[in-house]
Amino acid sequence: MLARAAAPDIDQAVLACKRVLPHHSQPILVMQPSTTYGTANRLLAALPSKNRQRLVAQCEVVNLDLSDVLCESGERIAHAYFPMAGFVSLLTRLDDGARLEVGLVGNEGMLGTGLIFGMGNSLQDLIVQGQGSAWRISATAFRRELAQDPALQRTLNRYAYVLMAQLGQTAACTHFHTVESRLARWLLLTRDRSHSNSFFMTHEFLAHMLGVRRAGITWAASSLRDQGFIGYRRGEVRVLNGVGLEKASCQCYRQGNTTYRDVFGRH
Ligand SMILES: [Zn+2]
Repeated sequence: MLARAAAPDIDQAVLACKRVLPHHSQPILVMQPSTTYGTANRLLAALPSKNRQRLVAQCEVVNLDLSDVLCESGERIAHAYFPMAGFVSLLTRLDDGARLEVGLVGNEGMLGTGLIFGMGNSLQDLIVQGQGSAWRISATAFRRELAQDPALQRTLNRYAYVLMAQLGQTAACTHFHTVESRLARWLLLTRDRSHSNSFFMTHEFLAHMLGVRRAGITWAASSLRDQGFIGYRRGEVRVLNGVGLEKASCQCYRQGNTTYRDVFGRH
């Protein structure tokens, strides 16, 4: 059995051996620079060094595998996650099984935000849409840290505010903005969170994410491609002209970035 790694000194550029737990399988060991680990998540990076080290010492690193369900709507939140790479969809589910994506969280945020408010159950399905890795901490340890760490409270309250803005923006966006501009926004959000101009997804998946029929997505994607903003082939989407795609996007993309920057600054 693997021993848990010692609390890493994340401010020293040394290699630390961390325990990595694929979400549903046996632990594996990887070597990673601990400095990168500690600051790859922007919320953790925003914490004072001492506070970050104390929190990270209680976390383990898990892989985020494509389509992993981290938590279902109504389910008890067992862990909080701080993604370092990859990204996770927040999906609101209705009684008839219909689901709509209301948020997309990557290394700028965290999952399990109900815990910030002292709540125990998840309001959304949390599904990995871009694979990567995350710090994971048990709900119990997270609550304990939050209760005794004002800097952590301040940072996560600010994030909760950003997330509320994102949820509201998405509701208005879904109601008022065209499929093409929403698709452009979604592709930009995905590009930013995957830190790559190339990622995989199908029209069917996009239709599910944007809550429109597949035909509507096909038409919108063709339009963005014909304007030279994106290319796609066999599920792989490539952003060819990010500036053009931003112009094609509704204001919601820029608004979301502005809100985050206003709250956290550039770092
Ligand atoms: Zn919009």
